[in-house]
Amino acid sequence: MYYIDVILPIPLKQTFTYSVNKDEAAFLKQGFRVAVPFGKSKVYTAIVYQVHDQAPRGYETKSIDHILDEAPIISEKQITHWQWMASYYMCTLGEVVKAALPSAFLLESETKITLNLGTKTAEELQEIEANFTDDQFLIFEALQAQPSLYINDLRAILNRANVVKVMQQLLEKEVIAVEEELTEKYTPKLRRYVKLAKEYEAEQSLRALLESLEKAPKQKAVLMTLFTLTGQSKKPVDTISLQKKSAANASVLKALIAKGILKEYFIQKDRVSYEGDEAQATKKLSNAQETALSEMKVAFQEHEIVLLHGVTSSGKTEVYVKLIEETIKQGKQVLYMLPEIALTTQLISRLQHYFGEQVSVYHSKYTLNERVEVWNNVMDSKPKAQIILGARSSIFLPYSNLGLIIVDEEHEPSFKQYSPAPRYHGRDSAIVLASMHGAKTILGSATPSLESFFNAEADKYGLVTLSKRFNNVMMPEIVLVDIREKYRKKKMTGHFSDRLMEEMKTVLENGEQVILFQNRRGFSPVIECTTCGTSPQCPNCDVSLTFHQYKNELRCHYCGYHMGMPKSCIACGSETLDNKGFGTEQIEAEVKALFPAYNVARMDQDTTRGKHAYAKLIDKLENQEIDILIGTQMVAKGLDFRNVRLVGVLNADNLLNFPDFRAHERSFQLLQQVAGRAGRTEKRGKVIVQSYNPLHQILQQVSQHDYATMFKEQTEERYQFKYPPYYRMIKIMCRDKNFLKLDKAAMWFGTALRTQLKENILGPEPPPVSRIRNYYITNILVKIPKEQSLSKTKQMIDLVQCSFNGIKEFSSVRITIDVDNY
Ligand code: ADP
Ligand code: ZN
Ligand code: ZN
Repeated sequence: MYYIDVILPIPLKQTFTYSVNKDEAAFLKQGFRVAVPFGKSKVYTAIVYQVHDQAPRGYETKSIDHILDEAPIISEKQITHWQWMASYYMCTLGEVVKAALPSAFLLESETKITLNLGTKTAEELQEIEANFTDDQFLIFEALQAQPSLYINDLRAILNRANVVKVMQQLLEKEVIAVEEELTEKYTPKLRRYVKLAKEYEAEQSLRALLESLEKAPKQKAVLMTLFTLTGQSKKPVDTISLQKKSAANASVLKALIAKGILKEYFIQKDRVSYEGDEAQATKKLSNAQETALSEMKVAFQEHEIVLLHGVTSSGKTEVYVKLIEETIKQGKQVLYMLPEIALTTQLISRLQHYFGEQVSVYHSKYTLNERVEVWNNVMDSKPKAQIILGARSSIFLPYSNLGLIIVDEEHEPSFKQYSPAPRYHGRDSAIVLASMHGAKTILGSATPSLESFFNAEADKYGLVTLSKRFNNVMMPEIVLVDIREKYRKKKMTGHFSDRLMEEMKTVLENGEQVILFQNRRGFSPVIECTTCGTSPQCPNCDVSLTFHQYKNELRCHYCGYHMGMPKSCIACGSETLDNKGFGTEQIEAEVKALFPAYNVARMDQDTTRGKHAYAKLIDKLENQEIDILIGTQMVAKGLDFRNVRLVGVLNADNLLNFPDFRAHERSFQLLQQVAGRAGRTEKRGKVIVQSYNPLHQILQQVSQHDYATMFKEQTEERYQFKYPPYYRMIKIMCRDKNFLKLDKAAMWFGTALRTQLKENILGPEPPPVSRIRNYYITNILVKIPKEQSLSKTKQMIDLVQCSFNGIKEFSSVRITIDVDNY
């Protein structure tokens, strides 16, 4: 008897054993997919882990349904990397597999839904969204976070069994699409080719044919074109180019095929290919860049990882490009990781200009087929998958010989996946991946994370610095404006100080552009009664409702609850309702009133939903069809515009006051990045930062471009309060509908941990939003000093969780574990 152990894409720790026959056992290897029965009626796609002949004890094995591949689609290296990930981030291998494989690879006997926004405009979407019921809104929101959902996910989200009606409604609104699975979904896109039928290949018969076509000159012309295109080398000729070249229409071709003169055939066409110009030469580096490049090479002799700390617009990308060039010349693959692909259309085309077809992009916004195609190209080490550009999930691809990984904007929080498991950090997982391949890693940033800079200072990483902008363009001048003072002196118009208005006027009159940064979307998030201080709360969650101007209603961003905007305070009846805080929508309205002669646009989650909405905004900005762009932190990232002279930050305080130990570091990074958008040419750019507290040390450091002092002060604080990079952290999140039960359960968990680990256990303590969708939440934080073993600590937590799971009373309490929860 033969057996295979398989990994199922579900959150269970163990592998499962199925029986196979002798032939199957000889054929199968690790990394093959097989369809297997599971439970009463389910079919899952499973990944073969190992083949053996040891009958499992204690249960009867089932046999597999069928084998899905002709060769393994997962490599040994991948499985090793995924095992590391499961163990490091404390989840199951099945969960990693589920995150890693394009879902087209994982057929399940269940219905699945995906977003289907098609060509809807932002306005249309807004309209649809405004009419959502709560349930529809919830599903819609969930689909923005995940590419697809199964029926069971919907049940969990809506907390009930019957979800078909909601699905039906969303289908009618054409915002979702449904796929019934079990057949393989990947269908390669085919291109149609034609060739001369065999019987006319001999000279004589060909001559006869051409004579017979004297009366059909168009058909003859097509044939003659075909011969020229085919040439000596017998190149395949596709119907599209044939039609174009011979200026014939489709019916002429059809007639030739019908007569049996031409034969059609199909070849798979890669849909993720680049169809631009030939590759261009890369740029000649400046002296500073040359120095940085050679310093990096030296650093790589002693370090596997080098941090490139280069101010915004210092030309880091061009330095990467040189190293990419060298790596692919050695026949090795390069992974170029970015925090969010959607935000980097500019970079994609820049790399494609240099490397043409060798660049492939991998991203969850792409269709399943596109992702499968990139997967296969990487697996086969195809020339067109030499350079992979991708977001964090691109670390899951089947690389065979990685030579270099670049993690650009390495400080970006969006490299971390928060939910669902695996809750991994893309940068850190990339470093592990690189070491498995013996590849080098570059971490690049204008504002490195404290962790990375700390590692560089400790000589764990090499460090190379580019301290000047390319072409000696000056760093922008940063002006801090005290708005408390301005309010007092009545120098504010709406949210604009007189200073910001003046600067905007000057710049706009010069025909240059302005970017305004406001770190909130929506109109005016919170409504507050100025008489009694009450703000309307969500009944299901522990948050204030936010105001949406479009429908004049209050909405909860967590659960979708909404109500009409009240005319008077629901607590005291007074009509003194006021806006507290303000979002991009309100700034847009103010700007339009203040600068009616100019074109204004807004860039935030609401206006960039459609597939190309973001790219369109970028194009407009580049073509100067937009004079003033208002945006959330989306505007901070990677944009390179020649004509933006001024950046205005409307209120820096809500960044600084965020309740998180990283708030100061993050504020510095974000403000430096936003400032980096101004003045990328010879003329110096300007940044106006409005704040109630311009003396705040972070704002002072931002205005001096003083990373070093920021680093020193922040790491001192981290040391004092036992935070990373000095301590590691694991967060244990407990949730339940019943507050008392949750409280008891979390106390039990915390006490058990304290008994085992003695020190550095914080909580249980509720987070700032301590109830979501009627689930109460409380967190336990485990801090781990450098000298304490990380793996032993995790084992302890595992043990505690095991005993916890055995307690019946707590069976409804959900526990999630987040390692390195930054
Ligand atoms: P960073 O990645 O550090 O923000 P970039 O690589 O985007 O900087 O460079 C900033 C600008 O300078 C870009 O417009 C880029 O095209 C230009 N640039 C950088 N290096 C060179 C070079 N060696 N020759 C010509 N232009 C360059
Ligand atoms: Zn009131
Ligand atoms: Zn709510």
